[in-house]
Amino acid sequence: MFIRSIRLKNLILVAGAALLGLALGIGVLFLGAKAAQSGGEPSPPESALPPESQGSQQTMGTDVPEDGEKVVYLTFDDGPSVVTGEILDVLKEKGVPATFFVIGATTERGKVLYQRILDEGHALGIHSYSHRYQEIYESADAYLADFDRLANHLESIVGVKPNIFRFPGGSKNKFAAPEVLEEIKKEMEKRGCVWFDWNALAKDDKSKATPAQEMFDNVVSSAGDQEKILILLHDDALRTTAAECVSMLIDHYQGLGYRFEALTAETNPIHLK
Ligand SMILES: [Zn+2]
Repeated sequence: MFIRSIRLKNLILVAGAALLGLALGIGVLFLGAKAAQSGGEPSPPESALPPESQGSQQTMGTDVPEDGEKVVYLTFDDGPSVVTGEILDVLKEKGVPATFFVIGATTERGKVLYQRILDEGHALGIHSYSHRYQEIYESADAYLADFDRLANHLESIVGVKPNIFRFPGGSKNKFAAPEVLEEIKKEMEKRGCVWFDWNALAKDDKSKATPAQEMFDNVVSSAGDQEKILILLHDDALRTTAAECVSMLIDHYQGLGYRFEALTAETNPIHLK
């Protein structure tokens, strides 16, 4: 009886403390939301947290954002390349996840980079094995053959087949007939593979490197004040300014209360209209 009453007392104390904690928590959330509102547009309490507390290595890129959350997705097409390492270094330093839509690399460096992308908490997506528009967009079968070749290649190196991809040139492009694109999309839906376009871009696909500041300005002006910003960047030998631009973009958007996520098949896709 004595022991039981002590336990009961403890239980009441614990329950009381829990209620107090809950009340304090709600108060903090309320104040946080108020503070965010007074600073301009309303934003969720999470975005008021300092960047370091927004996810450990384990949770990087795994959260599905809710409505009203401000999220940036950094995506890189055409890697791995000689600049991938620099981009990964910046992402690691800042603790930010990203997504790499890759091509078929057969060099040792390329294979190591596929693995490093995954090991460091980023998403690996399919772009194209050959990236030759004329060949892959000749027919849906040609596209799927190239897609499967890369999927198998990646599986043999990193052990998984990605289920996210980006069409070379985007999901509406002038290289493929609309009916070919439709056929590919139907097949991909059947397979549970999700494609992503973009709603902001660095315009960095020129024949020489674009200055980092110019890339940054292009992203910021094309992104506007969208809540979910999916940025198209390139990762190839000519993009020697990509890493510098990435660093600038992370600082800028974290300062505005955005968090960074890697894409998954569960992310709401952004498609070109
Ligand atoms: Zn590409």
